[in-house]
Amino acid sequence: MTLRTRLTLWYTAVLALVLVAFGGAVYTLLSLSLVRQIDTTLNIAADEIRLAFRRDVEGIHLPPMALDLTANVYVQVWDTEGNLIATNISVAQEPFDPDRLAEAETAYSEASYEGIHLRVLTYPLASQPEGTVVGTMQLASSLTTADDAQRALLVLLMGGGLIAVVLAALVGWTTAAAALHPLEQMTETALQITHADDLSRRIPLSGPAEGEVGRLIVAFNETLERLENLFETQRRFLADVSHELRTPLTTILGNLDLMRKMGQLDAESLDAITSETQRMKRLVQDLLVLTQAESGNLPLGKEEVELDTLVLEVFQQSKVLAKDRVEVHLGQEDQARVTGDRDRLKQVLLNLMSNAIEYTPAGGSVTLGLACVGDWARVTVTDTGPGIPQDELPHIFERFYRVDRSRKRTERGGAGLGLSIAYWITRSHDGRLEVASEVGKGTTFSVWLPQSGEGCGDASARH
Ligand code: ADP
Repeated sequence: MTLRTRLTLWYTAVLALVLVAFGGAVYTLLSLSLVRQIDTTLNIAADEIRLAFRRDVEGIHLPPMALDLTANVYVQVWDTEGNLIATNISVAQEPFDPDRLAEAETAYSEASYEGIHLRVLTYPLASQPEGTVVGTMQLASSLTTADDAQRALLVLLMGGGLIAVVLAALVGWTTAAAALHPLEQMTETALQITHADDLSRRIPLSGPAEGEVGRLIVAFNETLERLENLFETQRRFLADVSHELRTPLTTILGNLDLMRKMGQLDAESLDAITSETQRMKRLVQDLLVLTQAESGNLPLGKEEVELDTLVLEVFQQSKVLAKDRVEVHLGQEDQARVTGDRDRLKQVLLNLMSNAIEYTPAGGSVTLGLACVGDWARVTVTDTGPGIPQDELPHIFERFYRVDRSRKRTERGGAGLGLSIAYWITRSHDGRLEVASEVGKGTTFSVWLPQSGEGCGDASARH
């Protein structure tokens, strides 16, 4: 059953239930009040007769006024022998309600007399002051008018109710259709996306974005956006990996071919093969680290790391790396401790330093510094290199991203993974990696890590 049908059915059923309950209550109340009105009339008439009758040796005498009652109250007075001794309706010679007459107790009842529906009050007549029962009277009033009123009300309630239910069903059906239209549109679009394999489509937002359906559409579109990005990243990743692997493999195959043709081993070719194989190994290792870090599964040590000592170590190694091409300086050096994996953190700093040294032209300088900022330790790597254009900055930490894609791969064999790895390792340490750059002036990378200890001061005292 469709949601539309279900909504309409529920809506209609609830309305029908309310109408039945309401109609039932109105009908019962009206019926009761009609009967009560007749009962009151019968009771008043009975009282009049009870007070006016007289009994002597000849029998029971009723004053003529007692029988001159309102036209629609009929009276029969029966003696204890079962003889009709007085009545205002001579055509009725049988008791109105024989059963109640036999019981001779005060009671209201309903009876049918020659097809006429009657309300009957049976009332024993007692002589005063002795209180002996001398007869029984039965007063009756026709229920035809009340029955007609009840029937008319029933027809009105049922007819009106039916029309209301049908109208409600129609309104419910159309309202549900209008409310569910965006959902159908969503289903349609989702199917189109599946069939056409086109994740770039979006569902148009026709109503307000804050409504339930609006929020669903916005959420669905956001999911599509994310999926599209994921697929695009996946596709680019595969293309990048294949591209990065193809170059070393071509070199290896070329050198193997060469040696086969020469019929002997060649030292130069073997060197090339070794270097390319190492490049591939590095790439695969980097990819493994990246995949593990991204999924939060990178095995990380949880040791106390003296960040200032680590910074000094990286500084020494960087100086060796820079040779005399660029100057490497040590800037501010506070004391700071963090909890984490020393080797991985060193990898982060070395990646940043080797990038800075690599991209800074000869004669430039690179400065490494460590500062305490509140509860955080900040390691900065600042260079006087070419800088990174603003529009490239948001992508710099993406896998395989290189600012100048046509740039020849360097000695280090950077495949555009270094910054991604640095970013993810920092994140795995609950830290963050930031970059600020100005084209033509230089770049500063800042690694923010939460400090573990309280100690934050000038490290020069210790070294
Ligand atoms: P790569 O292996 O190519 O160095 P990275 O992920 O380490 O890959 O860096 C991505 C890109 O960011 C580099 O290709 C380079 O264009 C740019 N980049 C990184 N560091 C710097 C820097 N200090 N100065 C200028 N550009 C940089």
